[in-house]
Amino acid sequence: MKVPLLDLKPQYQSLKPAIDAAIEAVCDSQYFILGPAIKQLEASVAAYSQVAHGVGVSSGTDALLLALMALNIGAGDEVITSSYTFFATGGTIARTGARPIFLDIDPATYNLSPAAVRSFLEQQCVRRDGGLFNRITGGRIRALMPVHLYGQLADMATLCALARDYGLQVIEDAAQAIGAADEQGRRACSFGDIGCLSFFPTKNLGAFGDAGMCVAHDAELAKRMAVLRVHGMDPKYYHAFVGGNFRIDEIQAAVLNIKLAALDGWTAGRQRNGTYYDAAFAAAGLGDKLITPYAVPGYRHVYNQYIVRVQERDALRKHLADAGVGTEVYYPVPLHQQQCFQYLGYRTGDLPESEAAAAQTMALPIFSELTAEQLQYVVDSIAGFYGR
Ligand SMILES: *Cc1c(COP(=O)(O)O)cnc(C)c1O
Repeated sequence: MKVPLLDLKPQYQSLKPAIDAAIEAVCDSQYFILGPAIKQLEASVAAYSQVAHGVGVSSGTDALLLALMALNIGAGDEVITSSYTFFATGGTIARTGARPIFLDIDPATYNLSPAAVRSFLEQQCVRRDGGLFNRITGGRIRALMPVHLYGQLADMATLCALARDYGLQVIEDAAQAIGAADEQGRRACSFGDIGCLSFFPTKNLGAFGDAGMCVAHDAELAKRMAVLRVHGMDPKYYHAFVGGNFRIDEIQAAVLNIKLAALDGWTAGRQRNGTYYDAAFAAAGLGDKLITPYAVPGYRHVYNQYIVRVQERDALRKHLADAGVGTEVYYPVPLHQQQCFQYLGYRTGDLPESEAAAAQTMALPIFSELTAEQLQYVVDSIAGFYGR
């Protein structure tokens, strides 16, 4: 049996006539840039995320960059985020000229640790001249950028309270977490000043290429992002500030408009598969070998990834690859240990939970269309490795 980590073909097959027709309609119109499909997508994704305004952009990475630019973050500024995330989270901070402050994660959820943020703010920062400054570097701390890793919200109540206390803006990296919610039903992107989404094909709502979106409650901020998306141009050929070409493609928006209506069904499938794994690993007696994902009680976890923590991870991955089961490591190197961030001065051991997660975790297939036989085959293959 073959169990790929992700197979997008059945999802496309289930919607093929509608998607093909939507793409054809864009081709017939020859209206490719910032057309009606984008307006529709911005409104519906913003509403889905419980936010007033959406600005469609070219990728999740560009959503993060645009959010930072819209908040005027740049040289001399610092932004706090998690070390254990996809590169774009830290890369976009550095690209603005600001300094990323990488902090450690909660080992149960893999999300930015509010305790680590609190202790950094209390011990390494000082308030002066109406701002908050890093005592060691002299930089001005401007924003907090939590990541909702794997499809589960970071502890936003605590993180947003800290941000308020210290006068920081909040940018949510919700690339993996569209539709994730807390115990009060508050959704990803509805907590911060700006929420950033990715529609990369492997995300829960995936385009047929690159796409993303920024969402914001504040109309002025959304307007500013819409202007920065087209080179800071408003009106035509007049530029009050320097932006970029961060436009989303009309064809991608047309595809996403069709797919958004199916998202909750796919999410339910991912949750069903996660529940299956949780029970099956326990039933197989693997509880001491494999730590299954911790779902915060009451939260809506949308399982962009189903992550297990194991000993002998790399040997298990090889065993599974030989058995035809696809896995992946998200992510083998935390950002504070990346070569390009050596100038920040972190050392191995500085963020032990991020380093441990990078060494011990792996993703199993979780996509909605997996069959019961495939799920059980994954469980049996892992049980085989551990001799159960
Ligand atoms: C995918 C991802 C991004 C970047 O999105 P792209 O659309 O690939 O540019 C940013 N942050 C996280 C956490 C991601 O998973």
